[in-house]
Amino acid sequence: MKAFCTILLLATTLPAQTASHAALEARAKAIHANALVLDAHIDTPYRLTREGGDISQRLSKGHFDFVRAREGGLDASVFAIYVASRFDYTGSIKAGAFAEAQRLLKMIDNILAQSADLAAQAFTPEEVRRVVQSGKHAVILGLENGSAIENDLANLRALAQRGICYVTLTHSKDNQIADSSYDPRRTHKGLSAFGKQTIAEMNRLGVMVDVSHISDEAFWQVLALTKSPVIASHSSLRKFRRMQRNMSDSMLVAVQKNGGVVCTNFGSFFLSESFQSSVVRKDRKIAEARKLFKAEPARLEVELKKIRAESPIINATFNDLIKHLDYAIKLIGIEHVGLGSDFDGIDVVPLGLEDVTSFPKITKELLRLGYSEADIRKVLGENFLRVWQANLDNRARE
Ligand SMILES: [Zn+2]
Repeated sequence: MKAFCTILLLATTLPAQTASHAALEARAKAIHANALVLDAHIDTPYRLTREGGDISQRLSKGHFDFVRAREGGLDASVFAIYVASRFDYTGSIKAGAFAEAQRLLKMIDNILAQSADLAAQAFTPEEVRRVVQSGKHAVILGLENGSAIENDLANLRALAQRGICYVTLTHSKDNQIADSSYDPRRTHKGLSAFGKQTIAEMNRLGVMVDVSHISDEAFWQVLALTKSPVIASHSSLRKFRRMQRNMSDSMLVAVQKNGGVVCTNFGSFFLSESFQSSVVRKDRKIAEARKLFKAEPARLEVELKKIRAESPIINATFNDLIKHLDYAIKLIGIEHVGLGSDFDGIDVVPLGLEDVTSFPKITKELLRLGYSEADIRKVLGENFLRVWQANLDNRARE
């Protein structure tokens, strides 16, 4: 009897469920198509430097090209002008950071010249909308690692002229501006004196300060100093993945008070504690085996095979990203959360978030969670554009 009732129940509820799922799907599709979808941090220039490739074509490697961006309804993205720490300017030694930024800018110019029918650079939020309306992908530029300023604010002014909308103050090492979350040295205990001048000049120029990658001390000093809202271009939440590279709840609240936006990183490393512990566990076992069976290559091979089979990596999933987004929205409000995938800069992507074609899933899930169209649009791109515009509006009148 019980089985019969279950069958009856399924027969009556399934069509209704299917119908409501189809309606949700259609509504999500429409919202996604109408919204301006923007990714605040894409590392494609970095990938192109390492591997080459023509992003005007659909590529089988990497996470971004203009064809897949169109498929995923991704209208605009910030291309990171990523200057690796090996180029860092230290004291009086120039290691070529500004030149490296120039090289990347030239590379992007060439790409845009060759893909003029697909994409164009945007210097302001208004231009982003214009480019997108013309059916092209809007490429925005952001500098990842302030070391490219090389202790000379004239370089910052030159980069702002080239359309750099934000500067990520550091990368993996302390530099001449600030301490990095990844660097245990804590050279300046936050910002250097030059770093403080840099913040003031960025405010004056209308260039956003990106707090991703800096140490906690540097973060709090930036928040105390800046006169314009800040951005975290690609940071997730410490609540679910404990590391200084992610944002604590009190940091999130500080960004809310400052009027800024936190754009969530999609990388498994940023989203999931289980992922990271499984990686650490496996790496430790591999290192131990290599040490133990150093003199026995055949045995080592067998052991490594065993470790790989017995210690699988527990990857993050699409739901982990949603967990971060939903928690941040509930804590600091819909106005202060955005998306900064870090695609092409992250080694492992979560299951279900393989590349830029995955963006529509985010819209659908936010809709399913009960967020309104207006709210979803904010997360998808409007919050980033608002913060950028506020920085431009606060610019000093020359
Ligand atoms: Zn980064």
